[in-house]
Amino acid sequence: MLLDGNAVRDRIKAECVPRIARFLQDAGRPPGLAVILAGENPASQVYVRSKTKTASELGIYSETLTPSASATTEELLNLVHQLNHRDEIDGILVQLPLPPQVDAPRVLLAVTPEKDVDGFHPTNVGNLVTGRPGPKPCTPSGIIELLKRYKIEIAGRHAVVVGRSDIVGKPVALLLLQNNATVTICHSKTRDLPSVCRQGEILIAAIGRPAMITAAFMRPGCTVIDVGMNRLESPEEIARVYNADPERLRERLQAFEKKGPLLIGDVNPLDAAAISSAWTPVPGGVGPLTIAMLMSNTIDAAQRRRDLS
Ligand code: NDP
Repeated sequence: MLLDGNAVRDRIKAECVPRIARFLQDAGRPPGLAVILAGENPASQVYVRSKTKTASELGIYSETLTPSASATTEELLNLVHQLNHRDEIDGILVQLPLPPQVDAPRVLLAVTPEKDVDGFHPTNVGNLVTGRPGPKPCTPSGIIELLKRYKIEIAGRHAVVVGRSDIVGKPVALLLLQNNATVTICHSKTRDLPSVCRQGEILIAAIGRPAMITAAFMRPGCTVIDVGMNRLESPEEIARVYNADPERLRERLQAFEKKGPLLIGDVNPLDAAAISSAWTPVPGGVGPLTIAMLMSNTIDAAQRRRDLS
């Protein structure tokens, strides 16, 4: 079964609409999201545009602040402090990467925890670890939503997470644990990774290595969640992934000729289709959920701030 992230994203977005309407009625204003986009990184510009576009489609107020690529740490700290004090802003998102001269951890730490809609602030990491309410990182909470909406059992099952980053691996492992999975976290120093992965009834790959997870890593019938977003940059790389299926290989090589590098996850898609019982494609799996969860986190933050005022 293909787990369709676009369909789940659409449902989460549709559920945001009445929540926003209720907040608007109670508070007399919509939830508000501010994004700090420093410099001119083209990928960051695309991400931020699609975040603010989704916000405005749903009726969330959003604004993008665009300090120049030469902005200093102090300037960014000032911006964050101003946003921390603005009542109509419920969520603050600092788009990474920040310019190299900026002390990024200091800027992220300056975001007040109640407006930290990414869930990266140490206070919110602590809330997550101890099971207290608070924003949860968007990609990991999107993965849990996807599993739940497809009624894939988490409780009591063995989940293996490959990757231990603060953004994906660690928080998704904590969320799985909170949902009563038995969790194993793997990383680059894990010995005999394939055999550890083969224990996973749910296997989550958040590595950043194109199609590294092959059949040898998969337990027959498992659920595979592919978080990776990588590119295949040459016909040789494409052949390495798709050589077991000549028709698909031909189609992928044609796509490469027309459009250039191909998006690929951390999982070999042919192997996932053959061995797992359910899996997320790339694109169209985990990726679409991140922005939907950011919207949901912004509404949650707005409601929490209102309940506390
Ligand atoms: P990081 O680079 O921060 O972390 C990668 C993790 O993978 C590390 O823990 C690393 O181990 C581990 N790792 C690397 N190589 C191996 C290996 N050969 N064997 C076992 N483990 C390995 O990446 P992120 O967590 O930020 O992102 C992971 C992937 O997910 C990327 O492709 C990224 O683009 C994608 N992503 C997708 C999102 C989405 O919305 N779909 C959102 C965020 C990320 P160690 O700690 O030992 O170095």
